[in-house]
Amino acid sequence: MTLMRSATEAHEELVLEHSAHNYHPLPVVVAEGAGAWVTDVEGRRYLDCLAGYSALNFGHRHPDLVAAAHRQLDRLTLTSRAFGNDQLGPFCAELAELIGKQRVLPMNTGVEAVESALKVARKWGYEVKGVPQDRARIIVAAGGFHGRTISVVGFSTDPDARGGFGPFTPGFDVVPYGDRDALAAAVTPDTVAVLLEPVQGEAGVIVPPAGYLAAVRAICDASRVLFVADEVQSGLGRTGHVLATRGAGTDADVYVLGKALGGGILPLSAVVADDEVLGVLQPGQHGSTFGGNPLACAVGRAVVGLLTDQGPGGVLAAAGRLGAVLGDRLAGLVGHGVVAVRRAGLWAGVDVDPRLGAGRAVSEAMARRGVLVKDTHGSTVRLSPPLVVTEDEIRFAVDALAGALADLAES
Ligand SMILES: *Cc1c(COP(=O)(O)O)cnc(C)c1O
Repeated sequence: MTLMRSATEAHEELVLEHSAHNYHPLPVVVAEGAGAWVTDVEGRRYLDCLAGYSALNFGHRHPDLVAAAHRQLDRLTLTSRAFGNDQLGPFCAELAELIGKQRVLPMNTGVEAVESALKVARKWGYEVKGVPQDRARIIVAAGGFHGRTISVVGFSTDPDARGGFGPFTPGFDVVPYGDRDALAAAVTPDTVAVLLEPVQGEAGVIVPPAGYLAAVRAICDASRVLFVADEVQSGLGRTGHVLATRGAGTDADVYVLGKALGGGILPLSAVVADDEVLGVLQPGQHGSTFGGNPLACAVGRAVVGLLTDQGPGGVLAAAGRLGAVLGDRLAGLVGHGVVAVRRAGLWAGVDVDPRLGAGRAVSEAMARRGVLVKDTHGSTVRLSPPLVVTEDEIRFAVDALAGALADLAES
């Protein structure tokens, strides 16, 4: 019998041979996507319950977003910021209005927006707060994830993320996440900002204790420190709110957005804040060749349009409703191969009994059952389906998880 290489193996081999080995993907090679579903190179269909780490909040190729992209592709795609373009102003105005702040700084990737927010916070510290030159400090939370640049991995507490990449940018203090006393104790007169995720995504959908974000707000107010909320993953609908911070009843000074802002079509990120903060940037002090390009802005405007519908038929309401279904179904698995479930809207971290296997093994077993998820670390699996899934599809996903756990228990 001849051993035929499958189309999946052929694609995997090319990637292994010619791309850097910075990922260890599941053995699924996707060729097409529509809504919550993708089809692989061998014609197998999967329910996408990772949704590009929330970059695909509106599903694959949402018709409104694809139409906006097509219209703009046929008109104008790039100008650079050396000139104006007719999408930038409306995009900034519409996003600022959605978020309820005065100004938008458009960038491309999430980590670029995080870096931009850190630069702005430092400059605000010197020019507005009056911190002595080069003394600014920024507090961050242990276990957080903010991207992959040298400055950002420099304050990561994940040894894989930092190892071998030093020396790092100074000026960061790490405190435990969810601990208001530790945060209050870490503030010094040179502290300019606190940067954290309102729900820690990569850490496994860690929801902080009730009242924590309000306490962060109060601590920042008491010491004139900026509260910078990294909502790259938690924002734009995932938790059933435009912003998870607002969903928790409080407000940050600076919001960092990314992922879903580009509609799953292209990279688009932004820093959103009031004039007192973003106003510190003058011409020449920050920039990006692609930031604010008309194609990204046109897609971003369509994304803002989807989020502006805050009625019962909109994506935000759907995330809340579907999240409750997801939570109910997952609760039924606790004690049956699942140790704990954390959830915020349509976003769940599931800690699997480590005796059954690592999160990776669970993800592989779920893929065999037609559902794509990704382990975060250890035995945690994250479920973040597109906000356009149906209740039946959520049941299908949780049944696949239950089936995967049964498969692992038998093997
Ligand atoms: C994904 C993510 C980032 C980084 O976004 P990239 O587009 O990958 O650079 C930053 N912060 C949070 C909270 C994220 O989830």
